[in-house]
Amino acid sequence: MKHNPIYYTDQHFAFADSVRKFVQKELMPHINEWEEAETFPKELYQKAAEIGLLGIGFDERYGGIPETDAFHVLLSSIELAKTGSGGLCASLLSHSIGAPPINHFASDEIKETVLTQILAGEKISALAITEPSGGSDVAALKTKALRDGDDYIVSGEKTFITSGIRADYYTVAVRTDVDAKGPNGISMLLIDAHSKGISKSKLDKMGWWASDTAHLHFDQVRVPAHHLLGAENMGFLVIMNNFNMERFFLAASSFGFALTCYEEALEWARERKTFGKRLLDHQVVRHKLVDMATRLTTTLALLEDTAYRLGKPEMQGNELIAQICMLKNVATQTMQFCADAAVQTLGGMGFMRGTKSERIYRDVKVNMIGGGAEEIMKDLASRQLGY
Ligand SMILES: Cc1cc2nc3c(=O)[nH]c(=O)nc-3n(C[C@H](O)[C@H](O)[C@H](O)COP(=O)(O)OP(=O)(O)OC[C@H]3O[C@@H](n4cnc5c(N)ncnc54)[C@H](O)[C@@H]3O)c2cc1C
Repeated sequence: MKHNPIYYTDQHFAFADSVRKFVQKELMPHINEWEEAETFPKELYQKAAEIGLLGIGFDERYGGIPETDAFHVLLSSIELAKTGSGGLCASLLSHSIGAPPINHFASDEIKETVLTQILAGEKISALAITEPSGGSDVAALKTKALRDGDDYIVSGEKTFITSGIRADYYTVAVRTDVDAKGPNGISMLLIDAHSKGISKSKLDKMGWWASDTAHLHFDQVRVPAHHLLGAENMGFLVIMNNFNMERFFLAASSFGFALTCYEEALEWARERKTFGKRLLDHQVVRHKLVDMATRLTTTLALLEDTAYRLGKPEMQGNELIAQICMLKNVATQTMQFCADAAVQTLGGMGFMRGTKSERIYRDVKVNMIGGGAEEIMKDLASRQLGY
């Protein structure tokens, strides 16, 4: 799948090259072991920070990499997807959803300590929106933060939180006005994950094994009021804005994993022989690969168009939000199609642990559900398009 050169600079490709080397040297030799162990070493955050992977899109005063854009997200997602480990990517980059509200709304003093540590890979950041009573209907969230002098007292539960056990900082959606209904009365708070009153438990999953996913319980947790991110009771807007880049990232990763499946299947089809000829010499198998390539080509074109629009202030707005929703659905369907086709092409080997396609097949559904399920994407797109 060829990138459209009109969108890229030499700096984009140089960045992709350094991520490729990082993946080859630091990740590929260990990834199967980490997946089986359901974790990876914490030092990896610092190594990722050293090549600029954690700084994409963040303020350079706190360790962000200047002039990075959605194309950096796209290219690095493709390189990271070569590991075939969605769990590793999700946890290693959990700050990409947890830290933007800190970048945009925290005081300079907080940014100097908290954001600098996160972008240096010294501390881990997680985003906590979803609650046990439901993740799709964000406006119905129940976790309360009641003002008490210079603090908020936070009580409630969050679930399915990526990096939930290991995080040092949670960016948490709370209800600061308990009488307000729906999206009104919601705020975002930065919470020190080591605060008194927080308990955490690990969740076991179908896929994303290398990722730490947790259930969090907040029992009367005292949080300084100046940890409010954005205006009080206006947090719903912060959450919705944050979702746009999360969904773009999920779409870019989904494309990367689909491409990894395609490459594994193509290589297998070139080597494997049945009925006296290579799999690739059977027309049905060739068609399957072309079907994968077709979906990959169209998904990449939509990803590049969306990345371009994300970088243009005059193109922001409802239509772009709708496009991101559609992109997430297109990209995750491409991942689902390619994972299925790759496992089928690999035959019994595709069912064996250790092939990338097997792992990616198990990871498909989290991309289709996480960050907004397919149905929610369609609903949001329809509203943005004024239906
Ligand atoms: C591995 C993993 C990691 C995650 N990481 C995080 C994280 O770091 N932070 C975080 O906050 N959340 C995280 N999530 C949560 C994720 O964003 C939610 O699972 C997702 O938003 C769906 O919410 P839910 O699971 O509560 O499903 P529900 O809201 O209960 O919905 C269940 C299903 O019902 C359907 N549905 C729901 N509403 C509608 C509707 N209006 N119309 C039609 N169909 C509908 C959809 O098919 C949906 O999948 C993670 C989830 C997983 C699985």
